[in-house]
Amino acid sequence: MFKSKYNNIIIYVSAFVVIILIAFAFLRNNAHSITLNQAKQLVQKHQISKVIATRQYTYLDTSHGYYKIASSQVTPKLFENYQVHIQNDKDPLLYILIVVLILGIGSLLFRLMQKKQYFTDNKTSPTANTQNEIQNDLPIEVVRPNISFEDIGGLAEVKSELEEIINFLKNPIKYHRFGAKLPRGVLLIGPPGIGKTMIAKALAHEADVSFFYQSGAAFVQIYVGMGAKRVHELFKAAKNNSPAIIFIDEIDAVGKKRDGAQNDEREATLNQLLTEMDGFEDSSDIVVVGATNKINVLDDALLRSGRFDRRIFVELPTKQERNSILEKYLRNIPNNVDTHKIAETTVGFSGAALATLVNEATLLTIRQNYSQVATEHFFQVKDKVMFGKRKILMLSDKQKAYRVCYQAGKAVIATFFDIHFDKLLLSNDQITPPTNMPAVKSELQIRVKMLLAGMAACDLKFNQHSDNAQADLKAAKDIVSKMLYVYGMGDVLMPNENAKTEMLEALFQEVKNILKELNQIVAYAESILEDEECITKQQINKKLDALL
Ligand code: ADP
Repeated sequence: MFKSKYNNIIIYVSAFVVIILIAFAFLRNNAHSITLNQAKQLVQKHQISKVIATRQYTYLDTSHGYYKIASSQVTPKLFENYQVHIQNDKDPLLYILIVVLILGIGSLLFRLMQKKQYFTDNKTSPTANTQNEIQNDLPIEVVRPNISFEDIGGLAEVKSELEEIINFLKNPIKYHRFGAKLPRGVLLIGPPGIGKTMIAKALAHEADVSFFYQSGAAFVQIYVGMGAKRVHELFKAAKNNSPAIIFIDEIDAVGKKRDGAQNDEREATLNQLLTEMDGFEDSSDIVVVGATNKINVLDDALLRSGRFDRRIFVELPTKQERNSILEKYLRNIPNNVDTHKIAETTVGFSGAALATLVNEATLLTIRQNYSQVATEHFFQVKDKVMFGKRKILMLSDKQKAYRVCYQAGKAVIATFFDIHFDKLLLSNDQITPPTNMPAVKSELQIRVKMLLAGMAACDLKFNQHSDNAQADLKAAKDIVSKMLYVYGMGDVLMPNENAKTEMLEALFQEVKNILKELNQIVAYAESILEDEECITKQQINKKLDALL
């Protein structure tokens, strides 16, 4: 950032110097002064091609130079054979023209140098700022997306939640007549690559309204006020094209919680966004759709009523949804792929990862000269599919069985001890009770039991567990350590090193015993996770109530 600021200063200074030099060259009077005698000689030798008279000087243009002599020295008689051109000493129009020309050339030069700077910066070290600056340079464009809900695989719940907004945008009069108000902000929450941008585009398409896309990062500028200006421009453009959908991707880049640290630019941008949203007239028919991966980092002001008060959680696709996404992508590709089989083994894949998987398998088919894509091709490319920095592997049947058992154990213990959670997914999902509230010893013990439950369930069923226990085990150890050595919750206030092992082992045994008792419930949870890749606390509670 400093490098870029420093470079900008250099560009400004050099542009200024160039402008001064050009101005100097233009305005400099480059005629040589001559004496009256020399002028007379030029006349006698007929060397003068043009005579220009101003109030101060008379200029003589010859084939070998340009000369001047004070007008007060010459008599009109001297140039009686010439047509004398009269000119004002200072033609203001000429000066204005020159100044405009200089400013024009100067700013052109400045922009050219700035563009060159972006490219060199991006080639060497693509910093967020230079990229933002480029984005900031991009005009705010209105688009009419041609993606429809049909093109999106799965996400049925999300689509139905958006149905009302579509109807509203299509028939505003009907809704206005009842005094109904359009939700101003919809927040799509979910991991990257899951189709949030697609949904927003499809929303605009289905409602047949204009679509404006901006990334939150594009608002974060180095210069205070730039981000806010861009927000204002965006909303202005949307109002001029209403009804419209404004989509702000990665809204957390602008809307992060104000944590006390001074960041004038971000604050100004966020305030502008809030002001624009509050300033919507009820009839403006504009919906702002924000996308984020992490709702918990968003500033409360954004989530207040009248702003982003509709929240839609977009989750990783389930087995059926993965199947439908795969079918969509294979629609126009010659294939005999068993999509159910692929869907079965791609737990944790997002829509984007599935699209990449299909593409990789197709490329492999072409490389190997087959006439159609086969299931086998998917398995051959599975290791190639990267998702962000983390590689997701397709699960084998055995790995899946371990994962199902692990999550089932965790969900059952969490429900048994009434730990807060709505549902647990098969895809490495965590149960994260709020940690910022004070907890007593028994509550912390329960938390540790929940963290050890997956391992306990697998040990009971398979006599071993898999390496996905790593994160939970670490979290369990951390809590036990704190309980013993920070909160003084051991048998004695200053326990020795063994105390940690003892406490962990004791809690692990307790969990195992509970799970043994509840083995029917665990089996039930496993069957649900196997089929739906997701289980709710409510489902387990129902079974528990029936049993206990
Ligand atoms: P996000 O905005 O959540 O990061 P995108 O909407 O940009 O995700 O999705 C990236 C790409 O992944 C899309 O262009 C599309 O090709 C594919 N994709 C994601 N989800 C789906 C889905 N449910 N159905 C079909 N394709 C999907």
